[in-house]
This record gives sequence, structure tokens and C-alpha cells, in this order.
Amino acid sequence: MRCPYCRENDDKVVDSRVADDGGAIRRRRECLACGRRYTTYERVEEVGLLVVKRSGEIEPFDRAKLRAGVERAATNRLDTATVDAIVGEVEEELRTQGGEVGSERVGLAVLERLRSLDHVAYLRFASVYKGFEDLADFEREVVELQKTTAPKQR
Ligand SMILES: [Zn+2]
Repeated sequence: MRCPYCRENDDKVVDSRVADDGGAIRRRRECLACGRRYTTYERVEEVGLLVVKRSGEIEPFDRAKLRAGVERAATNRLDTATVDAIVGEVEEELRTQGGEVGSERVGLAVLERLRSLDHVAYLRFASVYKGFEDLADFEREVVELQKTTAPKQR
């Protein structure tokens, strides 16, 4: 570590302790050139989540953007707590996969949840996500929806 006083690159650690409730390690270092002491903090690098768009462009996961999309689809259908829960679950699911996820994975994770909650919100989200262009697209999706949500046999 470069000494902040004399810029020499030679030091020894004289003390290490946990800081920030375990979020960091604080080290006291002594410069071997000038003898002065300074402090460094070591933290875990935050694991970033990246979304690969259909265009191939990569951008950092944006929770607010996901939330806005779900909120739009859920207008007058689902309450805020439900929207928050969906966004939270989807984010958690994506983060456990980590690294890079395709944008279609994000959309599907939302659709999976909306399907069992509210069909109108599901269709709204699907229309944006799947880029519905006409009524036939909706009709096809509704047919799919009825198939996949047929009453379960007990
Ligand atoms: Zn120094």
C-alpha cells in the first residue's frame, strides 16, 4: 500500500480488526520508509448483476426500472406491497444466479409470478415484454394462459 505521507510502497500491518459490523477489516499500517502510520479498510467487492439486452448491450441491473414495468402492468390490479414482493423475489432469484442474466430471463421471472396472481396484469406485462402487435397476439396468449392455469386435478 502506498504511504499517503511519503508515497513509498513499503509497509507493515501493525493491527487488524473488524469494522462496520463485519462489513470491513480495518488495518493500521506503518510505513517502513518514514515510520508514519495510516489506516486502510478492506471490503468485499459488491457482486454486480448485469442484464444482457436483446440487442446484446449489457447494462447494470436496474431495480427501479424493473419496478416501473411491474407497476405499470399492475395498475389498479395489484397493491404496492404485492408489486414490491414481486420485484424483491425476482431480484433475489436473479442475484442467486449472479453475473449476467438475459433480459428475457428478467421478463419471464416477472411473468411467472404475475400469471398466478392476476391475468390482466400478466397480459399487460406480456404485451410489452413480448411486443404484442395486434389482437391475435393477445388471443394466443390468453389461450396459453388458460392452458397453463387449468384447474389442477386433486
Ligand atoms: Zn511513508
